[in-house]
Amino acid sequence: MAKTQGQRSRITTDLDFNADGKQIGYLRLPHSVHRSAYGFLAMPIAIIKNGKGPTVLSMSGNHGDEYEGQIANSKLIRGLNPKDMKGTVIVLPMANFPAAQAGMRTSPIDQGNLNRTFPGDPNGTPTWMISHFIETELMPRADLVLDLHSGGSSLNYIPSALARMGGDKKRDAKIKALLEAFAAPISYVTTALGENRTSTAAAERAGTTIIGTELGGKGTVDIDGTKVAVNGVRGILEHMGIVKETDITRKRPKTRIMEVKDVSYYVYAPHPGLFEPVVKLGATVKKGQTAGFVHFMDDPGREPVEVKFNTNGLVLCERIPGKIERGDCLFHLASDVK
Ligand code: CA
Repeated sequence: MAKTQGQRSRITTDLDFNADGKQIGYLRLPHSVHRSAYGFLAMPIAIIKNGKGPTVLSMSGNHGDEYEGQIANSKLIRGLNPKDMKGTVIVLPMANFPAAQAGMRTSPIDQGNLNRTFPGDPNGTPTWMISHFIETELMPRADLVLDLHSGGSSLNYIPSALARMGGDKKRDAKIKALLEAFAAPISYVTTALGENRTSTAAAERAGTTIIGTELGGKGTVDIDGTKVAVNGVRGILEHMGIVKETDITRKRPKTRIMEVKDVSYYVYAPHPGLFEPVVKLGATVKKGQTAGFVHFMDDPGREPVEVKFNTNGLVLCERIPGKIERGDCLFHLASDVK
């Protein structure tokens, strides 16, 4: 990375980040391939601005098969009127554009998982160029970044907002207020450090604040998750002072603040096979309780292997496909912040 440090992105746009009004257009990611020697990938972006004020960057499609946030962001682009705003909203609805176009978690061009490629590379393949552009060109403009995820094809979540808290009291209080403004049924905080390739780590490096979501999943558009996303983004823009509260939005539901402390909150497949879950999403479980059974369909005389929960908590996330490999995440829990 040392060689490319400080190098500007090759991604350009005709849009003007400083112009008032609503601009809907494209980022141009140079992509020279057999069928198009001088071509570029046209990644949708919108800049909606009115005068001075805070800037919010709202991203979705970081993982291309997570749809609720993509729909909420497209509604945001059409629904926001610059006349009713003070400040700027930048919307990147299909952040890993090739992945979002294909409806896949990762890019079909370079197999890149955008949320494992930050800080990216201005000379890399498209996924790495995109993460570099987001971290060096978009995040530094933002007072707040929203990165709207869902469970995607393999997971399903109770619609949630999430953030990383680090122990700095002032910063943590600010994040808690943002989670309350987003008002998802559940908000969960993690303290886990170490992963430095995600949008969360990128936003921290860029000196801004980030809130994430997990809005549903199953590779579908979850009705509740989409509503939570639409209302949540609106709540954040109100909280930031970019748009005014209305009588409807003033009656915000209360979010349940939970935490995911460590690896014991996750249940992983101990064997390949067919997984029979015995608890449902939203269940409250105890340490040692049965989560399900791994069946060995090619050896039907063999007893299934019991899989147990490793800690107490609420089932926040479940795996969707029945077929499992050793190491697949089957469930993860959250617990109330005491
Ligand atoms: Ca995701």
